[in-house]
Amino acid sequence: MEKGYYVSFANCGLPYYIGGVIKDRNALFVSKPETIDIKYHVDVRINSEVIAINPEKKSVTVKINKTYELTYDKLLISTGSTPIHPQLEGFERENVLTLWNLSDTRSYL
Ligand SMILES: Cc1cc2nc3c(=O)[nH]c(=O)nc-3n(C[C@H](O)[C@H](O)[C@H](O)COP(=O)(O)OP(=O)(O)OC[C@H]3O[C@@H](n4cnc5c(N)ncnc54)[C@H](O)[C@@H]3O)c2cc1C
Repeated sequence: MEKGYYVSFANCGLPYYIGGVIKDRNALFVSKPETIDIKYHVDVRINSEVIAINPEKKSVTVKINKTYELTYDKLLISTGSTPIHPQLEGFERENVLTLWNLSDTRSYL
């Protein structure tokens, strides 16, 4: 379940991309949603946010346009993190940005 679109990209390449060393954005994609199933036999569902875990039913509630429940045998939670915005002088300036995912790169280009 991935709430966004990007399932596998090279985070370590992001600074090189905004710095112009990597020119082709496509080079950052390790796997795309449409190929990951074929390559790894993983049922990947994009734009699918898990909004609840129901351990008594061994299911998760997934939100796309509507919501539905999906049962699991084992559940692995890997929701990652988000950048912190430290309360430092100057952090509010327009040219002070965070770089966390592919969408963030648009702010630099
Ligand atoms: C610029 C940069 C450079 C880096 N360079 C390196 C490096 O060189 N070497 C290295 O080892 N590491 C590097 N890292 C760190 C590495 O990218 C992270 O440690 C790694 O991506 C963490 O993986 P993760 O799966 O835990 O979280 P993430 O990659 O953040 O994935 C979590 C995913 O869960 C999704 N999600 C969250 N909540 C929900 C929900 N409720 N329902 C559905 N989906 C949800 C999010 O949309 C996200 O896509 C770098 C990171 C950055 C930002």
